[in-house]
Amino acid sequence: KEEDNYKPKERHKNSARKPAVFVLVNRERKIQEDRLKLPILAEEQAIVEAISENPVVILAGETGSGKTTQVPQFLYEAGYARNGRMIGITEPRRVAAISMSKRVAEEMNLSSAEVSYLIRFEGNATDSTCIKFMTDGVLLKEIQSDFLLSRYSVIILDEAHERSVYTDILIGLLSRIVPLRNKRGDPLKLVIMSATLRLEDFTGNPHLFKITPPVIKVESRQFPVTVHFNKRTAADYVAEAFTKACKIHTQLPEGGILIFLTGQQEVNRLVRKLRSAFPFRERRKENKKNNRQISRSENMNSDTDEKVEVDDEEMELDMEKAIQNARRAKKKHKGEVTLPDINLDNYSVIPGDDTEVDLLGEDGVEDIESDDDQLHMRGLAACQPMWVLPLYSLLPSNKQALVFVPPPDGSRLCVIATNVAETSLTIPSVKYVVDCGRVKTRLYDKVTGVSAFTVTWCSKAAANQRAGRAGRMGPGHCYRLYSSAVFNDQFEQFSPPEIQRKPVDDLLLQMKAMNIDKVVNFPFPSPPDLVQVKSAERRLVLLGALSEQKSEGEWTSRVTPLGYAISAFPVTPRFGKMLALSHQQGLLPYTVCLVAALSVQEVLLEVPIHGCQEQRENPKQTQRHWCQTRRKWAGVGNSLLLGDPMVLLRAVGAAEYANTHGQLLQFCTDSGLRHKAVTEIRKLRIQLTNEVNLNLPDLNLCVDPNMPPPTDFQSKLLRQILLAGMPDQVAHKVDEDEIKETEDKMKWKHAYRCAEMEEPVFMHSSSVLRKKSPEWVVYQEVFETSKLYMRGVTAIEPEWLPVYAPALCNLSPPLVDPPPRYDEVTEKIFCHVTGTFGNCV
Ligand code: ADP
Ligand code: MG
Repeated sequence: KEEDNYKPKERHKNSARKPAVFVLVNRERKIQEDRLKLPILAEEQAIVEAISENPVVILAGETGSGKTTQVPQFLYEAGYARNGRMIGITEPRRVAAISMSKRVAEEMNLSSAEVSYLIRFEGNATDSTCIKFMTDGVLLKEIQSDFLLSRYSVIILDEAHERSVYTDILIGLLSRIVPLRNKRGDPLKLVIMSATLRLEDFTGNPHLFKITPPVIKVESRQFPVTVHFNKRTAADYVAEAFTKACKIHTQLPEGGILIFLTGQQEVNRLVRKLRSAFPFRERRKENKKNNRQISRSENMNSDTDEKVEVDDEEMELDMEKAIQNARRAKKKHKGEVTLPDINLDNYSVIPGDDTEVDLLGEDGVEDIESDDDQLHMRGLAACQPMWVLPLYSLLPSNKQALVFVPPPDGSRLCVIATNVAETSLTIPSVKYVVDCGRVKTRLYDKVTGVSAFTVTWCSKAAANQRAGRAGRMGPGHCYRLYSSAVFNDQFEQFSPPEIQRKPVDDLLLQMKAMNIDKVVNFPFPSPPDLVQVKSAERRLVLLGALSEQKSEGEWTSRVTPLGYAISAFPVTPRFGKMLALSHQQGLLPYTVCLVAALSVQEVLLEVPIHGCQEQRENPKQTQRHWCQTRRKWAGVGNSLLLGDPMVLLRAVGAAEYANTHGQLLQFCTDSGLRHKAVTEIRKLRIQLTNEVNLNLPDLNLCVDPNMPPPTDFQSKLLRQILLAGMPDQVAHKVDEDEIKETEDKMKWKHAYRCAEMEEPVFMHSSSVLRKKSPEWVVYQEVFETSKLYMRGVTAIEPEWLPVYAPALCNLSPPLVDPPPRYDEVTEKIFCHVTGTFGNCV
């Protein structure tokens, strides 16, 4: 609403045309011209004045209006980065922190030492950094060591509407830090930037800010977008998206296409399909020859969706070609992007704002699936080429940046994205949006913490954001692959904030370590679920990071000395505890390596999808070969009992060895390791080693690339350390007698029973301990597919349980009267454990 908009005070309007300080920035002409086109430039004065007059300002504007790239520059020019003070900007996503810092440095003609980024394990910030992009988690850690954030003059919380857990806590914390800094006469400014969604969560909460902060709304040039619903809701939305993209490309005027799918694998699958349907000229001949093969393999893909991933090398080649094409096209256009003229008259006669009428009608191009694929591919290949680019958060940032490069001459841009393209990145020239209406989220069981990735409907707000992406440069169209009835009846208005969906263990410990004891009273924009808080607290008590005490008749929990040690590591509390307990017997290099390997997903491949064709042609044989390698790595005796973590340790060691001989890629292909995962682990190892050295400087730990396998004694200790980190993730094999007593005997065959889970859990087929099937195990996680499966399994001895997982044991007769609470037992045990860990085997 107009009256909501912040109006600068009158005197400023007249007297302060220019801010008091003006730091000169030397921008290139082309950049300056592009900037001037951004809607936010018109608001520069209002924004700078509002920030100088108010401690907290909310800035709302549609995606692409220029908030992230421009506001830091406004503040830099207004003098907020002088005298060694910094402008800090937080992003919920790592990719955004990196790519935005690069973009802003480029726009301002400054070096990456001055406009820098810092994410969990990586960064280029220096002492001369004046604008610092970081993930919200990084800023939270900084608050732990410097509560008043004395190095910053302003903090910008970006993408606040995404409601990430850390951004939510930062808002709460900063609502207290800002007045403290003000009181000291050294003001800190807070800018909350958000899309225009649900602003009242920040403004209408009296616990948060005493004085309601002013809201500045940046009007963006949003052109009308016509929304078309499908008559029927397609179950196979990837196939449906392919059909829709083909129809748009062959029948509708120029304009980029943006397709929203749910995950990386779906994105890659569709990228491949579209690239082979509308190839570039050089590749067309070759493609025709391979058409038979392509259509066959596509068919195969759709059957085994989960296991298909685009061959990275093949994609890289495509990318290389694509980049060259783009450079050529850019040269031809002398760096300017021009869009072809579109006859809008043809457009406006189309019926339907929000109706079910499909612009393309049902009788457009024949249905791809029911068609003879081969013929069809050939037919489509005769069209204009399509410039197909993937976009998802794990894609390397140089490849992500391709979406900003104008497509090669004569081709149509088509970006296939996950929800990263919803708000944090804006792709110019998109005219058609195809929306599958779904989103992939990780759902957690509130009590057990068991997680499963599920694809659900996105919220109405998200669907509308997606549609809006079509109207950046002119009127656009959004094709929703679901019916309006589904949209109206089954879509939630907003998706709940992350803090109400995820386990909050990490958050709770960090807050308690900052002396915020009553988490329930903390001024969250929306409070976390109480059940989640309670179960996180219980897990942390089990872990020994918190201890419960009775004060004034009430049980409260406090951080233990071990808890403080755990919270100093930038990893989850479980891993933090494993690190904190590993300082003896030369265990740390192994624990660091394990924690690094366990933090990276899918290190060991299950099916051959990368590398040589020979492997793909003989998948069974390849899998057998990988299995043998892994069994060899797992070893025998004590070594085998360490189980899957031992395979990881040996894999990392062997990969490092191959790397020193320049054969890493080949080695990864041969042994079924994901190359990117291995390089990521290596980065994490170095970073974690640095962290450990910061916390325990006496140890002076180094990363030994050729880490020798642990001795038998060490691997026994590592098993205990794994148990100490996961005392609540213990499973016991259901024995024969027990099975006889159950009603459903088949159901419990080969099953394990976990604490707090009624259903049987099973050892996953990828575990090296499956054959041995030890009686007691500890696992990394349980995930749900057709059954509940344990992943990352290690054998343990039952006699260790009273020491490391006392809460799982009934101690009878009771040690103390009244019956022991976790705190009393764990406190004693951890004095013992931390003091004489090596001796209690
Ligand atoms: P907001 O934060 O409001 O969503 P941004 O500041 O991210 O907006 O983007 C402003 C404009 O800058 C957009 O039009 C976007 O396309 C453009 N832009 C952002 N990053 C890049 C980049 N790396 N290269 C080229 N253009 C970019
Ligand atoms: Mg932004």
